[in-house]
Amino acid sequence: SSDDEGGEEYLFKIVIIGDSAVGKSNLLTRYARNEFNLHSKATIGVEFQTQSLEIDGKEVKAQIWDTAGQERFRAVTSAYYRGAVGALIVYDISRRTTFDSVGRWLDELKTHSDTTVARILVGNKCDLENIRDVSIEEGKNLAEAEGLFFMETSALDSTNVKKAFEIVIREIYNNVS
Ligand code: GDP
Ligand code: MG
Repeated sequence: SSDDEGGEEYLFKIVIIGDSAVGKSNLLTRYARNEFNLHSKATIGVEFQTQSLEIDGKEVKAQIWDTAGQERFRAVTSAYYRGAVGALIVYDISRRTTFDSVGRWLDELKTHSDTTVARILVGNKCDLENIRDVSIEEGKNLAEAEGLFFMETSALDSTNVKKAFEIVIREIYNNVS
């Protein structure tokens, strides 16, 4: 769309999916507000946060959606996915069950999307090296097999959080521009 000066603006919807308690909400608050919550409850209220950045001199707005904890009941609705052009699929490197669920989340994403979705596999909580349950290699291999970008992050100490979101946002931009 065009603004008054004739420049272009972009608005991209991005969803964050993955099992309960992998750190989805904290990744978003770390990225959008530079905040972390040690005792975060299931997200209430805010459906998404908007973050603006500039790519190639164009204003890009990422509208990043967080589940309201519905994933606990396997009840993430199609409304959540509708219109999404980017996705972060998150697991917790200290809990293998959350890594085992990634395939299911990818299937669900595929079922609900009717367009190209820029996707990154995110192994969160990389600060928990001492209780690591999934190796970096396993994460990389899965990402490669599924054609996803890959990054290990820590919402706690901020490692790679900005990078992970921006990889997705840039890829979406490349897909549409
Ligand atoms: P969600 O259910 O996927 O949204 O997960 P939350 O963001 O609510 O986080 C679940 C729990 O994991 C909370 O106790 C967070 O404080 C904790 N947590 C989230 N991200 C990290 C991280 O990067 N490192 C560590 N050590 N804990 C984290
Ligand atoms: Mg949450």
